[in-house]
This record gives sequence, C-alpha cells and structure tokens, in this order.
Amino acid sequence: MEKTLAINSGSSSLKWQLYEMPEEKVIAKGIFERIGLERSMSTVKFDGEAHTREIDIIDHRQAVLLLMDELIHFHLIKEFREITGVGHRVVAGGERFKESVLVTQTVLEEIKAISNLAPLHNPANAAGIEAFLKLLPDAVSVAVFDTAFHTTMPQAAYRYPIPNKYYNEFSVRKYGAHGTSHMYVSREAAQYFDKPLESLKLITAHIGNGASISAIDGGKSIDTSMGFTPLGGVMMGTRSGEMDPSVIPFLIENDPELKTAQDVIDLFNHQSGIKGVSEVSSDMRDLEIARDQGDKNAILAYEMFVDRLKKYIAQYFGVLNGADGLIFTAGIGENDRKVREDVVNGLSWFGMEILPERNVRGVVGEISTPTSRVKVLVIPTDEEVIIARDVEKFKKKTAFL
Ligand code: AMP
Repeated sequence: MEKTLAINSGSSSLKWQLYEMPEEKVIAKGIFERIGLERSMSTVKFDGEAHTREIDIIDHRQAVLLLMDELIHFHLIKEFREITGVGHRVVAGGERFKESVLVTQTVLEEIKAISNLAPLHNPANAAGIEAFLKLLPDAVSVAVFDTAFHTTMPQAAYRYPIPNKYYNEFSVRKYGAHGTSHMYVSREAAQYFDKPLESLKLITAHIGNGASISAIDGGKSIDTSMGFTPLGGVMMGTRSGEMDPSVIPFLIENDPELKTAQDVIDLFNHQSGIKGVSEVSSDMRDLEIARDQGDKNAILAYEMFVDRLKKYIAQYFGVLNGADGLIFTAGIGENDRKVREDVVNGLSWFGMEILPERNVRGVVGEISTPTSRVKVLVIPTDEEVIIARDVEKFKKKTAFL
C-alpha cells in the first residue's frame, strides 16, 4: 500500500499527515507542538483516538526521528519503505521557485541558500527534508512552497518603494508566505458560497503562531501582509510584524547588547510579538490565561494583537475595493472565539456582523448573521492535502522516468 507523508514544519511545530494515496485517505495525523519550548507535546490521531504525550523536543530534526518512531509504535507502518512519498512545506521559494519541485541535492542547497528570506522556517524545513532523505532515501521527496501562491501579486503590491536597483540586483520585494493555506481556504470558501471562485473577493486571515492576511481576487493573491520575509505584517507569536526600519540603527546605537542589524532582526523574530510584550509566552492559550487573570502586559499584548489584525484586514477591504468574505483559519483563527469576535466587532463599519451562537468552539463554516454584508467564515486549513496531491503528481512523473 502506497503511503505519503505531508510535513508542515512551523516555527515551533511540526504537523504531519499520513495518507493512503491516491485515495487521499488520512490514515493518521499528528503534531509536535512547542518545539524548543518547555513542555513539548506529541499528538498522534487515528481511528478516532488521540494519543498525546509530553516529551522534550529540542528541534525539528529530533521531531522527525520521533515521528518515525511513533508510526512504527502505533503500527501505522510496519517498515519505513512503505512510505513512497514525502512532501514538505517550504516557506520561502524566493523568485526561483514558482511551483512545487522534486527535491534534489541542488534544490536542498537552494532552499538553504534563501534562508535569509525565512530565517525561522527554511532552516527547519531544510533540516526536516534532510532527515527524511537519510531515513527514506527511495521515497519521492517534493518541496511545496508557501510563496508560490503569491506570485500573482501585481508589482504595485510586491515592490518596495526604494530605488529600483534593490529589486533588479538584489530581488528585494514582498514574497509573502502561508500561500498553500490561503489558496486552500479560498477554494473551500467558494464551495461554501456556492459561487465560482473567479467571482469572489476574499480576505483570508491565517492566524496561528505565524500570522498573515491576504487579499484574494478571483482566486488570485493580489496582496499579503508578510513581506520580504515572514517577519512582515501583523504581530505574531514571537515576531513583531511591521516596524519602522529606523528603529534598527537606533537600537544598535543605544543598546550595547545589540551590535548588528542581524541582532535586532533576531530580536524582532524570536523575542517580540506576543512573547515580547506579554513576557508570559508566545502561545495564545498561555496569553489568554494570563490576560484573564488581569496580567497588565498580557492584556496589552492581546489588545495589540487584535489591533494589528484589524488594521491589515481593513487595508485589504481597500485593496480589493470591498469583499464578499472574511475567512479565519489556523490555530488561533480556527479555535479562538474571542479573537474572531473582537476583530469582527471592531470592523463592523465594513458591514460585518458576527452571530454569537455560531461563533463557538469547534465551529466550521459561517459565523456571521444572515444580514451581514460581508460573510465571515471559519475554515480549517489543510495545507497537508495540497502537499500530498503535489507529491502524487511527482510520483506519476517519476514513474515514467
Ligand atoms: P498554529 O501555528 O496554526 O499551529 O497555531 C498556534 C497558535 O494557535 C498558538 O498561539 C496556540 O495557542 C493557538 N491555539 C491553538 N488552539 C487554541 C485554542 N483552543 N484557543 C486559542 N488559541 C489556540
């Protein structure tokens, strides 16, 4: 039986899904959470049961080894070679990768070489790919790029207003990220609307540990909040989101602990966002516990988080000149009733009204009132199935080689 693994390494998580292909049957799925943090967890789900355990996971490489152990342990596979394909989400493809590719040593080196475009992710993605290449050398290995979906952005959106030389010679531009997720939920939304995707204007809000908002016109990304790297845009778990770049030299001049621009960027990537302001955690669940206990920093971090989401969503009403739907997805977007309520209520002027009875935990589908001009939907993202489908395409191609 042919099995395919879809691997989605986030900055602090590694999600996996084991498929029987080409049926797209999910045999099992799981997640390693809080990688590199205290109390890391592994969850394996199959046959309607979830098996969770706390286990120290230092990095993504270790998570891959643990994953293979779990598959054998739970009798999901008997031997490694049952897995004939592995698809990897890769965050940054730069201008080089406009679609999914078969992983070769050269491709792997290229993914590493553009790590400056996704410093939290590409190294984790590359480490995952390498670990699998060693463990499963005969499996078809495919890289699926998060930036590919955003290659439809017009120049006016993706160029930065700096001298042309920096685009022409250094490829400095907005690339965006989370493209597979924005693409998937926009396609699913068209099914909810029962209208052709080409006729819809959508704002998709992928809000997880990393977060990005996209403006999607007729199924094509025309703008997105992340930029040259996934540091841009809204506030995130550990990332600042958009900043005035003048802060960088100012901090280097004034804080003796920060010596280089890279030191400041590391600070913005790893020590900022919800973590930096709350001084509690980068995780929304921890933040909300502290907020509800009256912790002032946690309250501020939560308010800032909602504020930045509102600003970007409001911008995209402008970019699209109106929208049919706002879609919430990813860890926070799918599960956090309060964030959705605060964002939508704060943007009611745009014609959105939430239905409290629908805006509950575990909801999928519409959460707005029947009279809401802009429909608000919760759609669980499924980047994994898109990845598995791309692996399948390459399995067919390589079978003819
Ligand atoms: P992701 O990166 O998509 O896996 O999302 C991770 C984020 O989702 C973390 O900040 C989690 O705290 C948050 N999250 C997951 N489940 C919940 C929940 N039930 N309520 C609030 N936030 C959640």
